[in-house]
Amino acid sequence: MPAATRQEPAIEGWFATDEASAAHLIGSKCPRCGTYVFPPRANNCPNPACDGDHLESVPLSRRGTLWSYTENRYAPPPPYPATDPFEPFAVAAVQLADEGLIVLGKVVDGTLATDLRIGMEMELTTMPLFTDDGVERIVYGWRIAS
Ligand SMILES: [Zn+2]
Repeated sequence: MPAATRQEPAIEGWFATDEASAAHLIGSKCPRCGTYVFPPRANNCPNPACDGDHLESVPLSRRGTLWSYTENRYAPPPPYPATDPFEPFAVAAVQLADEGLIVLGKVVDGTLATDLRIGMEMELTTMPLFTDDGVERIVYGWRIAS
């Protein structure tokens, strides 16, 4: 694999890191009814009882509890990038502490389903997903909270 010369998010605007390199997700919140949304968007409140059409960008909780999880043991088909040889990885659905939203994400390398338990505390992190033309593409992910 060619060496990466720089890092960029695989998707713009879904997460950010603070001065201490702590990652948080970026969501949206309806100022009218308080409903949160992830991934972020600018309008169309998802609450059927609310006709709000302007959502504000907000940082979301860095931690949450493990709501469900699974382990992927099959390489994704092209065009999705996969390691060669393929390494199984866990996927976690984490319920954010303050917002209650459930956010799906890959779990860090080295943590598999056998290491996870429903209800355990998880925290957000970032990890490289693949390298493309010298650019290391970064995604958010979950790890067991320290
Ligand atoms: Zn609303």
